[in-house]
Amino acid sequence: MIPDNDVNSDLAVLNERCIKNGISSPVKFSWSGRPTIDNRIHIDLYEVFRKELVKGTIFKNKYRTLKLEDVSQAILGKGKYDLGAISGADAHLLTVEQQKEYVLQDAELVMDLSKVNNGQIMSLMQAIPELTGLNLEQVCHSNLSTWWTRVFDDMNSIPPASGGYDKEGKNQSSAYQGGLVIEPKRGLYRNLKVVDVVSLYASVAILHNISFETVTCVCCMNIEDAKVSADIIDKGYWICKRKEGAFPRKLRQFKEERVRQKQLGNEIKQLGLKILINGGYGLFGNPAFKYADIRVAELITASGRNTLRQMTDIASNMGFTIVAGDTDSLFLDGGINNDKAIEHFIAECEEKIGIDVAHSQTFAKVAIVKKKHYFGVTTSGEIKVTRMEGKKNDRPVWINKMFDQFLEDFKADKDPMVNLKAAINDLEIGKIDPELLRIRVTLAKNPEEYAINNPNKKIGMLLGAKAGDVIWYFKTDRKKGGVRTNLEEMDIRKYKEMLMATVKDALEILSEQHKGTQRNNH
Ligand SMILES: [Zn+2]
Repeated sequence: MIPDNDVNSDLAVLNERCIKNGISSPVKFSWSGRPTIDNRIHIDLYEVFRKELVKGTIFKNKYRTLKLEDVSQAILGKGKYDLGAISGADAHLLTVEQQKEYVLQDAELVMDLSKVNNGQIMSLMQAIPELTGLNLEQVCHSNLSTWWTRVFDDMNSIPPASGGYDKEGKNQSSAYQGGLVIEPKRGLYRNLKVVDVVSLYASVAILHNISFETVTCVCCMNIEDAKVSADIIDKGYWICKRKEGAFPRKLRQFKEERVRQKQLGNEIKQLGLKILINGGYGLFGNPAFKYADIRVAELITASGRNTLRQMTDIASNMGFTIVAGDTDSLFLDGGINNDKAIEHFIAECEEKIGIDVAHSQTFAKVAIVKKKHYFGVTTSGEIKVTRMEGKKNDRPVWINKMFDQFLEDFKADKDPMVNLKAAINDLEIGKIDPELLRIRVTLAKNPEEYAINNPNKKIGMLLGAKAGDVIWYFKTDRKKGGVRTNLEEMDIRKYKEMLMATVKDALEILSEQHKGTQRNNH
């Protein structure tokens, strides 16, 4: 049985309705007062779709809220009866036939959501119990931290006493450093290779035996060899040399099992394992986790940074230029006999630092703009963009579309200015659909709660909106307060500025390249 909302309410309501209408109720209540149905598992799909790994990892944040209407529209491309205008609270105002249709449609949407991607989500939920020892119901209604807790509990682990947190539970070094980001070399590159470490943080945890019971263990306190080099982290830590920690041991088992499942072609199981393997380390920095240990999180990220530094040394010794790098990946330019050189680089990483590196993609051409900002076309013809302003969804759709056009022109080696000029001309003569110029924002809080008088506050108050509502406005002159809801007061100049600001960096890089080529030709 798969209702879409609150564990307690749906079955309780069903029970109540049955009683009121003189129908025998299938709902029973457990000793703790929880409603259940005999021989049935009760899964709250709302809890499943709320999980970060489902919402973010699998569906790439396609749905913005957890309302059935939003999730269905985003994933199934269809929505509730009457587009969600009718809610459960006023459904009784409909005729009996309409009510039937309304209820049926809701139930069908929930069932369709549970079966999406050939049942991928529920299959994944079913794969996790085998790996963690929890049951399906527990898996559906809990997160990674509960899953890993159960794994460690089953290994008879003892949670760390302090976990690096002081007695008040406050995090002593709450801001432990994350991954290493290498200052990029801005410019346009061709045939740029991207190499990634396979599961970096899990790999270094295994390689260096980093676990909550191995860090500053009692048995290796005076063993010189156990000390963590100051090059990695200078905090006087040492790591056990005598026994393998629970975290690395389990990670190793999960990794071996993942390889096996991949060979068997079991995509869902390997995905479940991947989620457990890659999501494990982050829990140690969360004070709410039973096995939280800030030192583990610190040591893992520090070892990760050290690994990336070692990789840059190997790459530059082989004649590559490191154009950019972030946490677990490097962008490599040059090298003698490129493809062979990459194979050689991967073999060196394995041999010298014991790390599994993969050549994930090659950019036929790519513009490196600044840290974590780039756009390019891979050798398989795919456009890849990270963090470029033009892709952000708080921009008017017009800007997003123009940026997509810009990328297509870039891919096709066309001068992007032609389409940009045409777009600005269309804007000036009023040929752009105003709908595309609206800026839409979902309010994170109630308008009056914003400290500064920003558009969210101004327009939110004007429209009487509340947290979670989507508001919209047009850009206008600063004298008019910057934002307006009526089209007549929209300021075209603001939109021109927004468009040009979006492509400014990219255009600069392309024109520098152009000048460069001309120089070379002389
Ligand atoms: Zn030890």
